[in-house]
Amino acid sequence: MNNKLERILPNVQKPARYVGGEYGQTVKDKASVDLRVAFCFPDTYEIGMSNLGMRILYAVMNQMDGVWCERVFAPWADMEEAMIQNDIPLYALESGDPISDFDMIAFTIGYEMSYTNVLNMLRLGNIPLHASERKGLSQMVFAGGACMYNPEPLADFVDFFCIGEGEEMTPEILNLYRKAKREGWTKDAFLCEVCKIEGVYVPSLYEHIYGDQGELLEIRVKEGAPKQIRKRIIQNLDTALYPTEGIVPNLEIVHDRSNLEVMRGCIRGCRFCQAGFTYRPVRPRSPKLLQKQAVEALEFSGCHEITLSSLSTSDYYALEELAGGMLDYCTPRKISLSLPSLRADNFSRELMLKLQQVKKSGLTFAPEAGTQRLRDAINKNVTEEEILHTCAIAFSGGWNSVKLYFMLGLPTETDEDVLGIADLVYKIYQTWRENASNKKRGVRIHVATAFFVPKPFTPFQWEKQITPEEYLRRTKLLKANMPAKFVEYKYHEADLSRLEAVLARGDRRLGAVLEEAVNRGCRLDAWDEYFNYSAWCEAFDCCKIDPDHYTVRGFEEGELLPWQTISDGVSTAFLSRERKKAYASETTADCRSQCAGCGANCLLEGGKCNA
Ligand code: SF4
Repeated sequence: MNNKLERILPNVQKPARYVGGEYGQTVKDKASVDLRVAFCFPDTYEIGMSNLGMRILYAVMNQMDGVWCERVFAPWADMEEAMIQNDIPLYALESGDPISDFDMIAFTIGYEMSYTNVLNMLRLGNIPLHASERKGLSQMVFAGGACMYNPEPLADFVDFFCIGEGEEMTPEILNLYRKAKREGWTKDAFLCEVCKIEGVYVPSLYEHIYGDQGELLEIRVKEGAPKQIRKRIIQNLDTALYPTEGIVPNLEIVHDRSNLEVMRGCIRGCRFCQAGFTYRPVRPRSPKLLQKQAVEALEFSGCHEITLSSLSTSDYYALEELAGGMLDYCTPRKISLSLPSLRADNFSRELMLKLQQVKKSGLTFAPEAGTQRLRDAINKNVTEEEILHTCAIAFSGGWNSVKLYFMLGLPTETDEDVLGIADLVYKIYQTWRENASNKKRGVRIHVATAFFVPKPFTPFQWEKQITPEEYLRRTKLLKANMPAKFVEYKYHEADLSRLEAVLARGDRRLGAVLEEAVNRGCRLDAWDEYFNYSAWCEAFDCCKIDPDHYTVRGFEEGELLPWQTISDGVSTAFLSRERKKAYASETTADCRSQCAGCGANCLLEGGKCNA
């Protein structure tokens, strides 16, 4: 550690964020590698170290001979200030070297509200911000991650994007880069070759033409670039690398436990959920392999908790078998097993009782809407009876609190649907009264509502977002009708969700707004204490861009969409059919029961869809 760092670290919050040296980190000899990658996560250490994608790709890159991948996280504001004052550029944790020394600078980006952190990290690393200003092969910036299906707002700053799953694509890219470096290619020559790797999108090879009203008129594809970029997927998760010997953090992180990824994809198809479409098709790992990986990960890390993660773990086909086998290992060792993302329709009493043997974790459900009509419109295939039945099981099993997540502003929502949330909450309270095994402790029902954000690649990708004022009116209506005594009601801030909607469906013109926002001090936007909405509004004004263009306007079906060059394998025709069904409150069966013909199965070798 250099002297300047030693001097400033005692004066910042959580210095352990900035020193590296954890058990399990990869350190290589600089002289023995020919490619160094600074792998950046555009948020804090605690969030980045909880990110499974980052852990997997760190292992994938470091498994390659001659490649050294190191971690870089966004500094908290106090550390950023100290770094600037002391002239310390952004550096990688393993070597302490500035990111400007690296060949490649990779970002994994999971959330639109971290875009300003991407720009800020490049600045702190003294990396020229615009892709066009970085002339040579070194400091090549690329990005992937869950929200990079529409990467257009970052198109000015990133040289190329990885669309889809990175385990196979990343080594292909890195090997091409090493060849380019060995043979002295120009940056342009490299970009013209890397765009031929399936899943790679080079934005500079696509010219976006806008009309006077900001409408996207045309996307001109340069010679040699693919017309469409199809996402990459791992065909068989059992053969994919899973890092059981991952880094053990020195400080408490957000998900401070071992994490076992049981499957990718979700069988459901809730119509608002981007991940539910972009991660298709469903690919489970086998229970035997998962048990082996669980034991290895727990023994390496010494964790006392393990979670079975996926988008919808209770839909994992062999959950009882896996949970049973894992409990045989975990219970005598006092290791708790947790399942996030439970659905109210397939939650068995037996499984619940097994899971609470070591530690009773919270009970969380996301009915998303208060009436059956709206739950059908969004294809949340869960009924009120199922929700109440599950709560009855939980209350009789000793739970006395439940968290419920809903959305406000969903397409077709009326005041009746809003009030339906309060009704459902009251029915849950009645269920507690009738079923609780211990009434003395009372019940707490935590209700949270989020502001619906229409996302690309979903059946609601064309929908309008209601205005923040209307959203706040609906939250007040709900609050006024919520049975207050035993309910804690929280709602998401409207401004943040409006901005998220702008960036989610944004086009390239937003690059200027992002830059302007960063110039005005915006970063760490996902953190309440730093989110500065008025600075964002000034940035939009300064760039003469109206945020409503991306929110309350909605998009026409048939309109050229900024993300049209990219395909996640799900057809636009399917999304349009699903949208019509939403308006008719018709549901679509889960794709294990019946293939709905979305197209994603065709991404599998030999896979077929009933399209
Ligand atoms: S169950 Fe619905 S909300 Fe949850 S991941 Fe699947 S599609 Fe998305």
